[in-house]
Amino acid sequence: YTLRFSFMQKIVQKFGGTSVGTIDKIKHVCSLINKEIKSGNQVAVVSSAMSGETNKLVSLAENFDINKNKLEFDMIVSTGEQVSIALISMALKEIGLKGVPLLGWQIPITGSNDFTKAKIDNIDDSLVLDVMNKGEIPIIAGFQGVNSKNNIVTFGRGGSDTSAVAIAAAIRADRCDIYTDVDGIYTSDPRIVEKARKLNKISYEEMLEFASLGAKVLQTRSVEMAMRHEVLVQVLSSQTGEKGTFLTKEDKKMENELVSGIAYSKDEANITLINILDKPGVATKIFSPLSEANINVDMIVQTGSENGKNINFTYTVSRKDLEQTISIMEENKLGIEFERIITNNSLAKVSIVGLGMRTHTGVANKMFSSLASESINIHVISTSEIKISVLIDEEYIEKALNALHSTFKLDKK
Ligand code: ASP
Ligand code: MG
Repeated sequence: YTLRFSFMQKIVQKFGGTSVGTIDKIKHVCSLINKEIKSGNQVAVVSSAMSGETNKLVSLAENFDINKNKLEFDMIVSTGEQVSIALISMALKEIGLKGVPLLGWQIPITGSNDFTKAKIDNIDDSLVLDVMNKGEIPIIAGFQGVNSKNNIVTFGRGGSDTSAVAIAAAIRADRCDIYTDVDGIYTSDPRIVEKARKLNKISYEEMLEFASLGAKVLQTRSVEMAMRHEVLVQVLSSQTGEKGTFLTKEDKKMENELVSGIAYSKDEANITLINILDKPGVATKIFSPLSEANINVDMIVQTGSENGKNINFTYTVSRKDLEQTISIMEENKLGIEFERIITNNSLAKVSIVGLGMRTHTGVANKMFSSLASESINIHVISTSEIKISVLIDEEYIEKALNALHSTFKLDKK
């Protein structure tokens, strides 16, 4: 008798907004839950709000000053998930399954006190496990938790991914399936690179780079959480239900892969300060006022100087911050002592990501020569352990992605 259950696994099934966007889609999702149950597994469901709902709630709240109303903001925007989990529960009943819809505070999922971007501090696994052990299905509202003062807090846009991975870690699930509207993680954006391939698996580290580069499939925090707790995550499509891409610990084979994918971001603007007097304290004079204004600086380049003569400073910010950045620089012109400022906001960042870079040399040069052979000019370069990024003119994105994709032998056969 025990044999029958020895293969039983605990699975978290997370459904994104598009997967539960209509009643029909909710019914379809229930068939995916049913399939998992029928194969003998225990399931915990985590759901987003129906697609578009959170945006609507955000616009309602934005009729008032959000900075003065963060508690109310979270109270409002968290309600989308309250609706979707209750609907899933109703739909499960129709096919003879018993769901238990659960809000963050009922579990409880305890979050920090930072409204609109709270961190998950703790999850009490007892209620969720009790429900599962009774043969019922907990249907958990993503994106929300409760803080130490019993207020609802939310985990930032896309936060249901993080809720799902956190639940999976808490109940020590065998797998966390993230159902979405794409069927996995690709070597590059398939809308731009025709020969892009779906990856069977990718390491947490690489996915972290992709996620933070703006491949919006997973909230970056969910990848960090999966890496920390070694949660096996699968990204797959709710439409096809076919095997997707697994996020895993790195293995030997992955390290042989020089580059596993190529990402890009169009959200780049570049500022160059010309002729700065080279002396201690220059960098902090430039970047302190930016950090006070909460402006995120990405790539930074300082030119060398010939014994104390003038230098140039180049850095990038996101496009929406360009105007404010310029005025902050102008306000600090006397302190920084620069002569003039040049800006460019039609740039794109193209990045190659791969574990193999840690142990193989010459990857950067391979990238540069590939771009050179397409006559693409590089404005700024930055590197990290497993990533090389270049800033190029936006108009060359397509050319650059395709060239690099074939240079690094990622093309599908
Ligand atoms: N509903 C929230 C959002 O749209 C959370 C999520 O879907 O992950 O951002
Ligand atoms: Mg999402």
